[in-house]
Amino acid sequence: MPLTLHSHSGQFCCHAKGELADVVTAAQAKGFRVLGLSEHVPRFRLQDLYDEERHLSVADLGDTFERYVATARALQRQHRSASFDLLVGAETEYINDESLVWAHQLRERHGLDYLVGSVHHVREIPIDFDQAQFNRCLAACGGSLIDLYADYFDAQYRMLTALRPEVVGHFDLCRLFTPRSNPLCRTLPPSVWERVLRNIDVVVAYGGLFEINSRAYKKGLPDAYPQRDILQV
Ligand SMILES: [Zn+2]
Ligand SMILES: [Zn+2]
Repeated sequence: MPLTLHSHSGQFCCHAKGELADVVTAAQAKGFRVLGLSEHVPRFRLQDLYDEERHLSVADLGDTFERYVATARALQRQHRSASFDLLVGAETEYINDESLVWAHQLRERHGLDYLVGSVHHVREIPIDFDQAQFNRCLAACGGSLIDLYADYFDAQYRMLTALRPEVVGHFDLCRLFTPRSNPLCRTLPPSVWERVLRNIDVVVAYGGLFEINSRAYKKGLPDAYPQRDILQV
């Protein structure tokens, strides 16, 4: 059964395209039986806005999310049928522990159908926006990719245990800007690998899903997220 639980629209996300309604009709046209809408939870500090959002305020992000949920619920009423299910969710952040409280409150307030649990920051610096930000993050980790990976999977662990998201987003996003010549693209050292296994066990224990995220191909990685060493586990 073709399904996808991770999506963004240009209407509510600065790095996606199309109206939310277009995303729904495109999924239906492609034969999807389930589509999950998962716009990003709003960030709550001005310093966490991306360069593409510099024209916006923290309040704007909050308003955008409110409009997203209202629009998504209307689409849900309009398009749900015996052959097509539409879910209204959100994709989380982990910037610091406050992000988890915030995501939990949003979920409760809007009665969201599900969460995509994602981590896009290490040491409060974005790891997936561009190479320059990733390099800044790497410098904050003393230049150690292994420390950066370990911190990423520790942040993911805190997010998983606090929110128990139904879907885990791009499990090993931390690999995105690792040079392809670096062996860490293929093989993780024991200190990182034990964190990977711990996080997989947590998700399996509460019955969560791991997404296969094809965005990695567009970014030039050899496999979809997660890369095959983790996928095989
Ligand atoms: Zn996303
Ligand atoms: Zn994401």
